[in-house]
Amino acid sequence: MASIQGLTLDIEKDGWDRSRGFIKREIPMPLLNERENSLDAISVIMKVSFAGVCGSDRGIWNRVSFKDMVHDSLKKEGKTIRILGHEFTGEVVEAGSMVKMLYDIKKGDLVSGDSHVTCGKCFQCHIGESHVCQDDKILGISIDGIFAPYVKIPAKNLWIVDPNRVRPEISAMYDPFGNAVHATTATDFRGQRVAVFGCGPIGMFSILLLRSFGAVKIIGVDISPANLEIAKALGAHETILIQQKQKKNPYDADPEVVSRMMDLTYGKGVDISMEMAGPNASLNNSIESTRRGGHVILFGLKDGDFTIPKFSRVIVKGLTLHSIIGRRIFSTWQTAQRMLSDRSNGIQDKMWSIIMKSGQGTIIPFADYAPETFEKAMNAHPKLLFKF
Ligand SMILES: [Zn+2]
Ligand SMILES: [Zn+2]
Repeated sequence: MASIQGLTLDIEKDGWDRSRGFIKREIPMPLLNERENSLDAISVIMKVSFAGVCGSDRGIWNRVSFKDMVHDSLKKEGKTIRILGHEFTGEVVEAGSMVKMLYDIKKGDLVSGDSHVTCGKCFQCHIGESHVCQDDKILGISIDGIFAPYVKIPAKNLWIVDPNRVRPEISAMYDPFGNAVHATTATDFRGQRVAVFGCGPIGMFSILLLRSFGAVKIIGVDISPANLEIAKALGAHETILIQQKQKKNPYDADPEVVSRMMDLTYGKGVDISMEMAGPNASLNNSIESTRRGGHVILFGLKDGDFTIPKFSRVIVKGLTLHSIIGRRIFSTWQTAQRMLSDRSNGIQDKMWSIIMKSGQGTIIPFADYAPETFEKAMNAHPKLLFKF
């Protein structure tokens, strides 16, 4: 059988706790064989051109998140190797027999696509809320992903892209950009003061979108001065650097961050907090920094239990909490495409020139992948893409 090289994790050979990073190994070339697998009729083989490295990939790299999802799903499939990666753009090189009829997708189409493979059968899927599907699987986590030159993918996940409107490097980021669109459309941001806790890539995309959606004061918060510099360049009005120091409880809110937030909002607190980092302390910073009656958008994900001191205050303050998972399929995609295609808002150009540094050091040729240099690049830049 023909084989190709993919970035993977073998939970038996590499182990979860015994290894780090992504391990390059031979994997079978994916094929469509409708006689053996009827689902191949609604799948395509895609030649990947760019693949994004996500915060969740960093979590897997450091083995701090998604352990159970990776292990449980592999056990179900009776396998030990997971192909990683879930943000992509590429070309359809082969399409199953039903793909054109059902999805109007054909060989030669350029596509990106959603990383959540939904069941299509559950209650939520039936009522048009497939982003909270009962039985969804995530590419590169609970089913095989796209860190490989060729992948098989369900056609229903694909979104046709137009390189004249959105450059391919940016098309590979539709999935995380869609998270930011989903988060910044969860409530009304017009005229609001908004704190973004965690200025990683999705926090950065959110800042760009918040400017367009009419937020009047955007306050970026991060532990990295470099990320805050980017946040400023993207349109954050103010930034707060978290000084990491010993606290009585590691999960407690940082009093300096909260008091600075109060100074910047005339003692009220922000109208909306976006928690986009993940740590327990960041959640508490978000809750403490939000005014009475305000909104807290929850996006950061971390394994384990969380503590919210004086939880009753969440209720007494009348906060509204919004959990953001994935993207609404495909209404979020439609909005994302429009926000990227409208060059007058500057979003696409700033993503490319400021976040991606016009490709300098941020685009890694997949063939050259080496763990040490890749990790260095990952530490130096908020967002990386593999180029195939
Ligand atoms: Zn992602
Ligand atoms: Zn479902």
